[in-house]
Amino acid sequence: TIGMVVLDLNKKFSAGTSSNGARFKIPGRVGDSPIPGAGAYATSFGGAAATGDGDVMMRFLPSFYTVSLIELGTKPSKATLKAVQRILAVFPKFSGTKHDIHLFDVFSVSGAIVAMDAHGRIGVACANIDKFGYNVAYRNGTVMTHKTGCLPFHK
Ligand code: ASP
Repeated sequence: TIGMVVLDLNKKFSAGTSSNGARFKIPGRVGDSPIPGAGAYATSFGGAAATGDGDVMMRFLPSFYTVSLIELGTKPSKATLKAVQRILAVFPKFSGTKHDIHLFDVFSVSGAIVAMDAHGRIGVACANIDKFGYNVAYRNGTVMTHKTGCLPFHK
């Protein structure tokens, strides 16, 4: 998945995702990416984009939840973390380490959320993406910041 959150010069947010879907998906499966509030969501307060095991994640509308927290005053760094923790509370295996799950699960039991608020502050939170890395790029004017891994990323 590629997820993107954009704050334009008119202070308007856009958010979107593109995905090739889950491996071994059944024909006709609709994943989380095209579902508003699951894959992406934006209001005048902020935007968020999420990916991972869409069949788990879409039950929690993590992008909507993250933006809702931002609207209530939560910083994006905390809002994304809370959105991941909310999923972990129901699906603890979602955070399993690469040592105690099978290879297939490494792909399917993971998730990540990026978000930005109207101040341009960003947040990233993820679960179980260490093995393959999770690339995050943040651009403000000409300055580009880039990180890999399932690490806290606060701006
Ligand atoms: N989130 C996608 C899905 O479950 C998978 C992905 O693109 O990583 O359909």
